[in-house]
Amino acid sequence: MTADSRTAASTAAGGADSRTAAAAPAKISFRGVSRTYPVNGALFTAVDRVDLDIADGEFVTVVGPSGCGKSTLLGMAAGLVLPTGGQVLVDGAAVTGPGPDRGVIFQQYALFPWLTVRGNVEFGLRLAGASAAERRRRADRAIELVGLEAFADALPKTLSGGMKQRCAIARAYAVDPEVLLMDEPFGALDALSRVQLQDQLLETWTRQRRTVLFITHDVDEAVYLANRVVVMAAAPGRIHTVVDVDLPYPRTEEIRLSPAFGQLRNQVWQAVHHRPRAAPAL
Ligand code: ADP
Repeated sequence: MTADSRTAASTAAGGADSRTAAAAPAKISFRGVSRTYPVNGALFTAVDRVDLDIADGEFVTVVGPSGCGKSTLLGMAAGLVLPTGGQVLVDGAAVTGPGPDRGVIFQQYALFPWLTVRGNVEFGLRLAGASAAERRRRADRAIELVGLEAFADALPKTLSGGMKQRCAIARAYAVDPEVLLMDEPFGALDALSRVQLQDQLLETWTRQRRTVLFITHDVDEAVYLANRVVVMAAAPGRIHTVVDVDLPYPRTEEIRLSPAFGQLRNQVWQAVHHRPRAAPAL
């Protein structure tokens, strides 16, 4: 059974499938989640009845064409966008706003230019009420995790794009959220920085096993990182297919070049680029 037919079958049956992690309760659960926006006097459906369970410690990537609702979906898990239908649950509780249990990382690093790397990383901890000693300890640990120790006292303007994004990631790590919500975090980076940050993210994830929801428009990146790839389709934004990535970790260059990786990439690519069949003429 292909992932496509499995998804379709289970949707029809309303039963469990690869959208639903087996047995363990979901860390993040999208239950019939929709989001509409009023546009020109009509309601535009950005996300249409999404059902998706993400298990604790799972790494799920979401790909799909521009405008298919990826950011809206992530925004609803972050509590930055509220659903107009259905519910997003984290640990069984409905999300009603942002919270320290969920760290959000965007493509734009949004660093404070007047603060050093350490100052930026400590900022979230300050908001969380951590003492000065605690802030310093946790910030230094997070900075070390992303390999920026030598630049802890540098200002953002002296850093490359990749280093700025490392700093933004360290800022999220420092708070140690149980869930990382990443919206095309490497989208603006050059190919080399991108691969380095993918490997560094996987290394940290393997050690800490946080739950990650990661949006990308890059099919290779989606497959390389994930336990499961969710492919969305547009107009209205919905889940098209869920592809299980049965490749071992650590993911290496060898895995990236393997036939199994190539097959998965092709499967995801075809799902992303599918064209709905035109309705037959009556
Ligand atoms: P993606 O991240 O896949 O590119 P988005 O989630 O950003 O998609 O957007 C999904 C759709 O919802 C798009 O057509 C977008 O124009 C629309 N949309 C998003 N936010 C708003 C808004 N605040 N008002 C009206 N339409 C919106």
